[in-house]
Amino acid sequence: MGHPYNIEVELTQNSQLEKVDFNNLKFGQILSDHMLVADYDDGEWKEVKIVPYGNISLSPATSALHYGQAIFEGIKAYKFEDDRVSIFRPDKNFERFNKSALRLEMPAVPKEIFIDGLKKLIDIDRNFVPNTAGASLYIRPYMFATEAALGVHPSKSYKFVIITGPVGAYYNKPLRVKVETFYTRAAAGGVGFSKNAGNYALALYPTKLAQDEGFDQLIWTDAKEHKYVEEAGTANLVFMLGDTLVTPGSDTVLQGVTRHSIMDIANSWGIKTETRDVSVKELIDGIETGQVSEAFAAGTAATLTPISEIGFEGKVYKLSDPETRTFSNRVVNYLNDLRYGKIEDPFGWNF
Ligand code: PMP
Repeated sequence: MGHPYNIEVELTQNSQLEKVDFNNLKFGQILSDHMLVADYDDGEWKEVKIVPYGNISLSPATSALHYGQAIFEGIKAYKFEDDRVSIFRPDKNFERFNKSALRLEMPAVPKEIFIDGLKKLIDIDRNFVPNTAGASLYIRPYMFATEAALGVHPSKSYKFVIITGPVGAYYNKPLRVKVETFYTRAAAGGVGFSKNAGNYALALYPTKLAQDEGFDQLIWTDAKEHKYVEEAGTANLVFMLGDTLVTPGSDTVLQGVTRHSIMDIANSWGIKTETRDVSVKELIDGIETGQVSEAFAAGTAATLTPISEIGFEGKVYKLSDPETRTFSNRVVNYLNDLRYGKIEDPFGWNF
């Protein structure tokens, strides 16, 4: 390769933009015209290209399909009223991506490919960023092992890809969640903090069982004793406990960008925040005494989803009416205004 990480561009001759119904967007169904693809081999990142969105051809022996070296990220870009496009805190996802890569014995992706590539890709497909209320462009960077050989060992080659697609406003139906006390998502020393594909596959069956019981999602608990709450589905848990905003601190949970941002905003408003273990008992007792006044799931897909009911050992504990929750409603409006450029960005989060 000539210039390091020179990103070649091949534009599509067959844009799908005209076919997109921006008023009826379902999550993950529509993909933008282009994708970034980078290949790693012989210890270095070689080709980096932006090409028309399309299939990738793989050997049946592709090692990611057998041994699971596969990681990903989820980021959103928003359109301002003046038509500028802003990506929300991609530096945080870049850092987390490379932490996942390290844990899965995969190569780091350089900033010049992840961030600069992202910027170039979004610029090319900027017309896919919706300007309808609550909508955004969802960005999915991912990497997987491509060595075409069987045998458990770190793959010698990898593919890094970024695809994107417009997504609509998320209807935040309050969640009914069940505290899971049998199945385990992640144990200390494991891969809970990483965003690897396997963490999502292992959650499907226990989540389905909870859904069969009438819940929307699970609250995972610690692997050892099932005494401490960890996270919910694909989002972090946050509680207003007395006058303090609390989120579980264990490194078995994914360190979410959304909850981090929410904690930072709360701090800037003079609200106390704590990242620490929260036991199931503290949570259930707190609901019963009224100490827990708000509970929500925080993540890129939905930003903030109120939790309305928590099931634990056959009983259902009801939380306050989401409409009346002062902090949750204030912070979600603030965060949305910030991301759509409607207010100043004192934190420098818009990229
Ligand atoms: N936990 C899990 C397991 C997730 O998949 C996600 C979504 N990435 C989150 C938490 C929330 O993270 P973020 O706010 O960075 O989207």
